[in-house]
Amino acid sequence: MIYLDHAATTPVRDEVLQAMLPYFSERFANASGSYTSAREAHQAIDRARAQIGRAIGAQRHEIYFTSGGTEADNWALWGIVRAVPGKRHIITSSIEHHAVLNACKALEEQGISVTYLPVDGDGLIDPDDVQCAIRPDTALISVMLANNEVGTIEPIAKIARIARAHGIPLHTDAVQAVGHIPVDVDALGVDMLSISAHKFYGPKGIGALYIRNGVRIANLIDGGAQERGLRAGTENTPAIVGMGEALRLAAEKMPETSERIVRLREQMIEEIARRIPGAHVNGMCARRLPGHIHLTIDGADTRLVLMRLDMEGIEASAGSACASGAVERSHVLKAMGIEGENQADLRLTLGEENTLEQIMQTVDALARILRI
Ligand code: PLP
Repeated sequence: MIYLDHAATTPVRDEVLQAMLPYFSERFANASGSYTSAREAHQAIDRARAQIGRAIGAQRHEIYFTSGGTEADNWALWGIVRAVPGKRHIITSSIEHHAVLNACKALEEQGISVTYLPVDGDGLIDPDDVQCAIRPDTALISVMLANNEVGTIEPIAKIARIARAHGIPLHTDAVQAVGHIPVDVDALGVDMLSISAHKFYGPKGIGALYIRNGVRIANLIDGGAQERGLRAGTENTPAIVGMGEALRLAAEKMPETSERIVRLREQMIEEIARRIPGAHVNGMCARRLPGHIHLTIDGADTRLVLMRLDMEGIEASAGSACASGAVERSHVLKAMGIEGENQADLRLTLGEENTLEQIMQTVDALARILRI
């Protein structure tokens, strides 16, 4: 099998699994207890909090564990709106993940108005558009750091300077970026940042929201006093330990792995250009996630291409995981102005275990499927 859908999820690294295992069995204690084994679980959570903080340039107490990227995104949006009831406007982009877009829709149903910023043909947001969209009642700006479909990296630091000048908190969905490119909350100038462990060889169902010291945010879930009273529910100690270890390892390996994956990506793009004349690469070339290739292929059908690749043991997708079963073109491509008829959309996202041989086999299979 050739797995080329790392933007959807990644396998759990063996070292990560080994670090997690004891917390399912002999170290099972509830971290809220006051006895020795509970204190040990609490310490393990704190170590993971510090590992995650270190990886993104945050302090450990600015990291709040959640059930994943979706919850972190929802919390950032609802939490800020609830904390500043006088402010009824949000600015976001038209290419956000559904975790942000559908939370915005739900907020609109509560009377919040939302500005969806356009993007250019490369999927890039213009910071001047952010400036123009600001209103006196703007509660929050939420723009993703890197797009999950085309991999374009957005100019967050520039947007942050605008947000700061107006005293508006800035959230970024960094789910696709963290663990793959250097991310530093101070260099970016963000106030909140969403992370998800299963995108960097950690377990599914665990993520975090970074909340800068001093940001006023309401809780999303009512219950106990976990996560400094802001995110109730017994901590998922094994997953938290796994997330900390996964991010520590991702940061340590990043210079070497990202260079190798970029090289593979460029070799694949070259080979596609040589052998598949109707294929166009979408997204920003210069500012793109290391493993992302998004193609539109003239004269082909998305479902058929995906199905035939699958039959050849090659796993890829059309875009985001939730959109891969749909025939309709994704909101991201539409926003980028990619609306041609009779074209297949294909997202190939490379990861650590991919080899040059697999890349060549995939292009071979594509050429065969398209009968070129
Ligand atoms: N945001 C982005 C950009 C994503 O790519 C994803 C997952 O695909 C999410 C949010 C949701 O994260 P999770 O799967 O951890 O809920």
